[in-house]
This record gives sequence, structure tokens and C-alpha cells, in this order.
Amino acid sequence: MRQALVLVDLQNDFMPGGALAVPEGDRVVPLANHLARTFDLVVATQDWHPADHGSFAAGHPGRQPGEVIDLHGLPQVLWPVHCVQDTPGADFHPDLDRSRITRIIHKGTDPQVDSYSGFYDNGHRHATGLGDFLKEKGVTGVFVLGLATDYCVKATAIDAVRLGYTTWLVEDACRGVGLHPGDIPAAIQDMIRAGVALTRSGQLMPPEIESLTPHPGPYGRTEGSVRPLQRQIPGRLLEESGPATLQTDREGDRKA
Ligand SMILES: [Zn+2]
Repeated sequence: MRQALVLVDLQNDFMPGGALAVPEGDRVVPLANHLARTFDLVVATQDWHPADHGSFAAGHPGRQPGEVIDLHGLPQVLWPVHCVQDTPGADFHPDLDRSRITRIIHKGTDPQVDSYSGFYDNGHRHATGLGDFLKEKGVTGVFVLGLATDYCVKATAIDAVRLGYTTWLVEDACRGVGLHPGDIPAAIQDMIRAGVALTRSGQLMPPEIESLTPHPGPYGRTEGSVRPLQRQIPGRLLEESGPATLQTDREGDRKA
């Protein structure tokens, strides 16, 4: 089995202080660098929008970021202007070690449709080239990390499963937007349901990578590596989020 590491959108605009800041987004970068040294194939996605992209609230008079509109037949969350092609906000975080990145995949380049997944646009009409690249390289297993858990990471991981890759989410190397309470744990639950297995960066030192032999379960996930969500998620949020976020996320999780 050949495994690839997919780094999702580790760009300045998604970092604290950026146009679409993901809380603690920068904490993912050192983990990405560490893990990139243990994989021989590393791919990075980059949200890469034209200045008039349809996901920008600024292009829809009277609308605010966070509102949902119909964009050419698809529900679209409106965002602040972010990751505009060839601007500093679209650059990778300055601390990201690019020397390990074999291929950069641009997504969101069509102004008419967003692209959360690194594989396809949100309408699944056009491929970005990531699937073909991984296939060409003989990859059968994919480890996904980055930003943001509840949007681009989730869509990328779920598409990877659908394309037949054994897929792991490196859970501690992701951070979410959390637009609504409970969004982040719900996203993780959606990924598990789709067949994504959870792992953590500390488990991915080289010998452990070799020993992770997947046995797809009823939904294609690795049996035994995924504990029930209720026991698994809240403790992790406790480690990774501030108390306020924890409170709302756990509240949302219980209601869900
Ligand atoms: Zn975007």
C-alpha cells in the first residue's frame, strides 16, 4: 500500500489574523511539517479564488458572511473575501515546509462554484487533478489533515473514501471554523459515517504507518481503530479548544 499525506489549505487567510481565520489554525503547521517528513508523498491543496468568486459575501449586496445562498443551484455559505489568487492571504503559512510537498492542487478557481474538497468542486462537476495524481502514483491510502475540519477537510476526506482510498483523518492536526455550535464534532461524525478512520499525529511515526493495516468495516472504515464518538470526541475537544468553544461544541454534540 502506498500512502499519501494530504495537507488541506494551510494558507495565511485561514490562520489567526487572516481574512477567514480558523481558531488555532496555526497550531496545525508544526504537526504538518513533522508528518510530512514521515511520508514519501505529500500533496497540499490551496484554496485559490478569483477576486470575484461567488462564495464571497462582498459580491452579494445585502448579504453577510455566514449566510447561506443558492449559488447556481447549490447551497453556498457566504465567506469574507479570502485566498484570492496570487495574494499574500492565499500563500501557505510561512512556517510550512514546502520542500516536502510533491504537488500543489488549486481549488475554487471557478467563480461560479466553490470547492471545499481537494478532489472536486462542490457540484462534483470538475475534478481538480488530485485524484488522477494519486492514482498515477499508485496511492491506495490517504491521510488528511489541515483546515478547516468542518468544510474542506471533511469534503476532502469523504471524497477520498468515495474514490476508494483507505482514508484516515489526522484528528489533532485539524482545526474547524465552528460557525454553529456542534459543527466540528458533527463533521467528524459525518466523516466516520462515510468510512474515514481517525488517527493522531503521534501514532504516525514510520513503524506505526507500516503497522496500520486497514480492515475495512461495514462502511469501509478500519475496525478497531475508531472508538465510539461519544467517548472519543469530547475529550479531544477539551485538549484542543478553549473552555468557551468546548462548552458550545459539547452542548451541540449532545443535542445532535
Ligand atoms: Zn474558499
